[in-house]
Amino acid sequence: MRVIFHVDVNNAFLSWTALDLLRQGSTVDIRKIPAVIGGDETKRHGIVVAKSPVAKKMGVVTAETLYSARKKCPNLKVFPANHELYHRMSNQLYEYFLTITPVVERFSVDECFLDMTGMEYLHKDLYAFALQMKEEIKQKFGYTVNIGIANNKLCAKMASDFEKPDKVHTLFQSEVASKMWPLPVEELFMVGKSTSKILHQLGIHTIHDLAIADPLLLKRYFKSFAITLKNYANGIDDSPVGKKEAKNKSISTTETLPTDVTDKKMLKEVLRYQADEIGHSLRKEGYYAKTVAIILRNSDFIDYSKQRKLVNPTNVTKVIYETICALLDQAWKKDPIRLIGIRVTDFTKENIKQISLFEDAIDDQQEQVQKTLDELQMKFGKEVIKPASFLKHDGKEQ
Ligand SMILES: [Mg+2]
Repeated sequence: MRVIFHVDVNNAFLSWTALDLLRQGSTVDIRKIPAVIGGDETKRHGIVVAKSPVAKKMGVVTAETLYSARKKCPNLKVFPANHELYHRMSNQLYEYFLTITPVVERFSVDECFLDMTGMEYLHKDLYAFALQMKEEIKQKFGYTVNIGIANNKLCAKMASDFEKPDKVHTLFQSEVASKMWPLPVEELFMVGKSTSKILHQLGIHTIHDLAIADPLLLKRYFKSFAITLKNYANGIDDSPVGKKEAKNKSISTTETLPTDVTDKKMLKEVLRYQADEIGHSLRKEGYYAKTVAIILRNSDFIDYSKQRKLVNPTNVTKVIYETICALLDQAWKKDPIRLIGIRVTDFTKENIKQISLFEDAIDDQQEQVQKTLDELQMKFGKEVIKPASFLKHDGKEQ
């Protein structure tokens, strides 16, 4: 029997921004005042991405407009999302998990799965160990997490969601009936808005109802997804902790967003540091990618993607970023996005140039700049130097 931990940072964006402000000398902990993390307030689409407990008490909800949040809470403080910071905090936590077990999967910017199977020989009581880990994270990094412990990833994820913040919960196979089955069906992982609507129409209201539902009925409405639904409702999930891709066949990075996002600028911001990360991985491995793809998942867990073949294989962040933005423009259906990412494939070891000498020269120059940047980052850390285009926003709403 496997043992999996799912660790989820409580109110990640707000907590991380709070810590960053305190580190910069602020005397106010925004976790303790009416505060939200929001999109750019000067833009029409500014929405609440995360809220402090005080703001929550005053009725502010995630994804509502800043305008309506301010009406509920006139002294509300609004802080911009800082994805660069979040990514850094995420990496720091991921590195910490790697000191505990080598099998860690980053599920989103603030969530990881840890495969703890066999660790009971090292830590006799894994529940006590999780409590200790939660305290250590608080001590070391200054924020709280929830930890779910279970025999698979699905149940671990469900468990970490039970009661927040700062809690450890178990959902072992033997506890599925008592702890998970009574929950409303929309609380099951992967059950989005449109799925739950159909389920309720079919008279399936709790996870237990779904667990015992007629498989043929489910199949009629949900096709192949029916099997997943039924398995999940029964607490069954065999997926391993770790990367799914075969090594070196492709490099990808995805992020589950904290709330469904319809703001293109915010999506591009996430793509910006993902492009940076992908470019860095390619250069580290000495690869050039010929194909760049955007990965999108909407709020109903429908995945779609679009790819483009480049004329010249690349490992240059700027080229990857520009390509991925063009792909976003083409592919995005303007639906609420839950997960976004980049995948690069078709690797070559050589940068084979096919177009004019003049463009080659530009490319070579970019490559040289990138190489120098990588070396500087390696020496002085990632935060020290960034291409200017990565520092400022163009201010235009796209
Ligand atoms: Mg979280």
